[in-house]
Amino acid sequence: MTDWLLAPELAPDPSDVLAPLYAAADRGELHLPRCAACDLALELEQRVCDGCGAAEVAWRRAEQAGTVHAVTVVHRLEPGLVRTDRPYPVADVELAGGHRLVLAPLSPDIAPPAVGDRVAVGFRRLGEVAVPGFTTPVPEDAP
Ligand SMILES: [Zn+2]
Repeated sequence: MTDWLLAPELAPDPSDVLAPLYAAADRGELHLPRCAACDLALELEQRVCDGCGAAEVAWRRAEQAGTVHAVTVVHRLEPGLVRTDRPYPVADVELAGGHRLVLAPLSPDIAPPAVGDRVAVGFRRLGEVAVPGFTTPVPEDAP
């Protein structure tokens, strides 16, 4: 299946430093890096913990829902790389476990969320690689 947003040549290398993320995403699970010593949530490519100084990363399963911290709408056209010719939202999503992910929607028909909305995290297929994206807002009464 072809991704709605990006050309397949923009797919990340699934064997790079984020390999654990892509391997889990391929199974439909979100795994993110935490400090192996104190469990603090780390940035995706962070290798040294800000909290305790340890330099050991543990990739652990993360909750696939979060709250929109910020959102913007991208209007830039990149023919050949960006496949859509319509503006699309990009959301900075704060997960319950402390991670922040900047995500595009899983499909072009997902309405831009508002700051404070709960969204779920799913996966798009970019070439052969599964990458995280956000879905429609999660209802307030969802568990
Ligand atoms: Zn730590």
